[in-house]
Amino acid sequence: MPIPLMPAAILLMFCGLILGCAGNPVNSDQILGCAENPVKNGPGAPPPASSGLDAALWAQSSAEYAASARQCYNAATRMLEAALADTGWSAAPEQASGAKAGFAHLPPAVILDVDETVLDNTAFNARLIMENRPFDPALWAEWVARESAPGVPGAAAFIRAAAARGVTVFFITNRRCDGPGEDCPQQAHTIANLAQIGVPDVAPSAVLMRDERPDWGGEKTTRRSAVARSHRILLIIGDDLADFMDGVRKGTSAEQRRQMAEARSDWWGSRWFILPNPMYGSWMSPLEGKGPNGKMEALKGFNK
Ligand SMILES: [Mg+2]
Repeated sequence: MPIPLMPAAILLMFCGLILGCAGNPVNSDQILGCAENPVKNGPGAPPPASSGLDAALWAQSSAEYAASARQCYNAATRMLEAALADTGWSAAPEQASGAKAGFAHLPPAVILDVDETVLDNTAFNARLIMENRPFDPALWAEWVARESAPGVPGAAAFIRAAAARGVTVFFITNRRCDGPGEDCPQQAHTIANLAQIGVPDVAPSAVLMRDERPDWGGEKTTRRSAVARSHRILLIIGDDLADFMDGVRKGTSAEQRRQMAEARSDWWGSRWFILPNPMYGSWMSPLEGKGPNGKMEALKGFNK
């Protein structure tokens, strides 16, 4: 049976959608919004091209993400034994570069970031995408207060293994206190959420929050240095270059960031362990501030 010819108008509309705004092939994000035909923002509007739809789906659904996380924590668990045995070992630059291993006598510790390292907030990010909202601190506080983020695969088992070996586990997170001396509800919620994923009895002093003290800002070195004064730091685990070093956010190019990571090339997978996070993070900083089409411009810049 012959297939009826599609009316020309419908055919043109169909081709326009598939080819995108400028006649170029596009992905599913870009099909939904065109720069020259802007759509209304807010709930109900289609997600913009920068929504991170594929990234959230990958983190939330793929076997590859779960396997990557397991790989990280399995390797970290094995490395823990070697790090414990070598009292000259440290994952903290301020200790590793210090004179004569003055930290060798200190009790051992590991440092972990929280978000997308131990707690999985993909559901929060997915909600922002589905409702076409930008990040909102009030919505984030609401999410943290639910204390219901699932654990990143392998994280809780690693933390329990470290504690069983007498290693103190510190969490350095940019979840916020309201300010020095103020209440810190997100700290309590974080501790309760950790208990929910099988990490019970975490002391508030082991969860170092942003702005908990006057010199504890968004950069993490001051907090890591505070731990390094009392403990030998065996391993650091995070999902963002900023969990390991300062100065990787605004004002730092993508190439500079790669060079900063490469300068510690032999530490990755031994002293430092990093989990994948394509949804957000300081890796996006060089791509921001370039206008509504900044990411596409950045992509073109990498592919001249
Ligand atoms: Mg994180």
